[in-house]
Amino acid sequence: MGFIRHSVRVVLWTELLSGMALTFRTMFKPRFTINYPYEKGPLSPRFRGEHALRRYPNGEERCIACKLCEAICPAQAITIEAEPREDGSRRTTRYDIDNNKCIYCGFCEEACPVDAIVEGPNFEYSAETREELMYDKEKLLANGERWETQLADRLAADAPYR
Ligand code: SF4
Ligand code: SF4
Repeated sequence: MGFIRHSVRVVLWTELLSGMALTFRTMFKPRFTINYPYEKGPLSPRFRGEHALRRYPNGEERCIACKLCEAICPAQAITIEAEPREDGSRRTTRYDIDNNKCIYCGFCEEACPVDAIVEGPNFEYSAETREELMYDKEKLLANGERWETQLADRLAADAPYR
């Protein structure tokens, strides 16, 4: 019986025709793929991408060198050195993140009392060497300047839930 059914399917091309019918039906359905990198999907405000250090609108660094982010980081990826300025304020002299170690848990961002260290929307920062993923303060502040608008928007969107 199975042999007869198989022979009928082969002779009448039923499998081929049903496959073509499926293709034809799918042609008129909405597409679920996007033409990356020219098109990008939506990102959650809680997306944890590349790190950035933010400044206040007057240009002053937000970070007050409290080292809470360094203390809470489970991967020990953050290294901070600090000293007081002439005006008595405390600021970092060194702020490094080793992205080779980072597990993107977001604890550093949650621990920061002044929203200085944040994980931004950028996920396109792949590298060919480990050295490229060692971020220093200059690089992190540059990221903050580059992404500030998006960072402020996502922090505002997430604020009611923090
Ligand atoms: S995201 Fe997590 S692992 Fe990465 S630097 Fe922040 S606290 Fe450390
Ligand atoms: S980034 Fe935030 S938590 Fe880390 S040292 Fe600066 S102020 Fe403290």
